[in-house]
Amino acid sequence: MDIQLILDKYISRLPRAISTRLFNAVKDIPFVKKAIARELDAMMAELEGSLKPYKGTIPGFASLPAKGLAKTDVLSMMEDIHEQEAAKWEDGYVSGAVYHGDPAHIEFLNKIYGYNSQSNPLHSDIWPSATKFESEIVSMTADMLGADKTDDDICGVVSSGGTESILLAMKTYRDRAKKEKNITAPEMIVPKTAHAAFDKAAQYFNIKIIHIPVGPDFRADVKATKKAVTKNTIVIVGSSPCFPHGVIDPIEELSELARKKGIGFHTDACLGGFVVPWAEKLGYDIPPVDFRLPGVTSISADTHKYGYAAKGTSVILYRGTELRRYQYFTITDWPGGLYFSPTFAGSRPGALSAACWAAMVSVGAEGYLDATRKILETASVIKDGISEIAELKILGDPLWVIAFASDELNIYQVMDQMGQKGWSLNGLHKPACVHICVTLRHTRNGVADRFIEDLKASVAFVKAHPDEKGEMAPVYGMAATIPFRGLVEDMMEKYIDLLYKVE
Ligand SMILES: *Cc1c(COP(=O)(O)O)cnc(C)c1O
Repeated sequence: MDIQLILDKYISRLPRAISTRLFNAVKDIPFVKKAIARELDAMMAELEGSLKPYKGTIPGFASLPAKGLAKTDVLSMMEDIHEQEAAKWEDGYVSGAVYHGDPAHIEFLNKIYGYNSQSNPLHSDIWPSATKFESEIVSMTADMLGADKTDDDICGVVSSGGTESILLAMKTYRDRAKKEKNITAPEMIVPKTAHAAFDKAAQYFNIKIIHIPVGPDFRADVKATKKAVTKNTIVIVGSSPCFPHGVIDPIEELSELARKKGIGFHTDACLGGFVVPWAEKLGYDIPPVDFRLPGVTSISADTHKYGYAAKGTSVILYRGTELRRYQYFTITDWPGGLYFSPTFAGSRPGALSAACWAAMVSVGAEGYLDATRKILETASVIKDGISEIAELKILGDPLWVIAFASDELNIYQVMDQMGQKGWSLNGLHKPACVHICVTLRHTRNGVADRFIEDLKASVAFVKAHPDEKGEMAPVYGMAATIPFRGLVEDMMEKYIDLLYKVE
């Protein structure tokens, strides 16, 4: 279950008749406040069951066991857990999440991890291999994303994931703007379909974020972007593609606008970095989104998604080492010695960089091209199948992350029915829709056909039983009408607390 869905679920338990205005008027009255808290606590208790499924089957430890467990026992617990959890994604019933997942590939990465589990890139003297792996990961990614081979202007670093890459880039632009332009009230311009990591960056680094609307094709509005530029703008952002609807923003126009104004431009290719370049080579009609565009000054690309590495790596690329330097941290007067680090972390898992490097060099250009072909062909079967269902419509013109909605049916009821058939799809809102992010898991024989068959049956069922609410449909219904923002935030925090509660 999606966190958003769970959160929405407990909102829906609140008395429906309460209007927002009434709610706002009474929510701070002590006994109402207490009642709400009680209600929330009851919901949390119920949630705990689905969030903590190992209660009773796998021993839990609130404190250290007095005597260490036998390693064989620990291993067998891990095997049990693995078996239960892999069943959820192995057969291609999950949107996104696991991008490769073939057992032989996983075993290979695990072996590489094993050789390198002690490696820490912070100690480049002890593990010069980490330096080799990371510099080559960056170079191979840059080369794939339009870096000109004749100059080595495009550079970057390896980070822990897409979010860190984005946070690093936004911090870099903030610090550059402060130093070079004395901008003390920085602003970033971001399409509203861009990843939440940009909002996180704005919050962490005290940057004002301006959300730009998207058009009917779900691509960022260039005119609105132009209007939003001020003397405090430090960066404009576009996605290739965006997470919700899988469409690519007008990167060419947006980056050109940024270049003319002397502002940074970031292409978020976290999702598409290892797909779009190969799609282009396969002949799909995709305008350039990378460093071939002179206005693009940074790109994030996730190796732990379609780079087919293990979870925990991503690449952030910059145009120019001068820009990259604003990301670095150095300190000369620390009693611990001369200290520096390229990213947010200090010590880092060199083994993940080794496994990432191994994934990239073992898959190779041909492998990525082939994987992309399979994914796009599968996505095309799925798109055709959805188009045949009269009650559904695909949003925008996506390549492989396909969002669909309905004018007649409650799309979340359709998602509920798909859930009953074992599918774990992403529910999205604003507007109400559902997406499937196609990965190599879906390219295996019969998965796409099974998806369409199940989708047709689900739509037919919802049509015949419009009142059968299912699990998540009412939740999304509530979420769409409820402006109880403070309460929702409060509940999200409670949910995170619950994640760290020992069984
Ligand atoms: C996944 C994703 C991110 C964030 O990546 P994480 O690895 O989850 O931190 C950013 N942007 C887009 C478009 C993504 O799909």
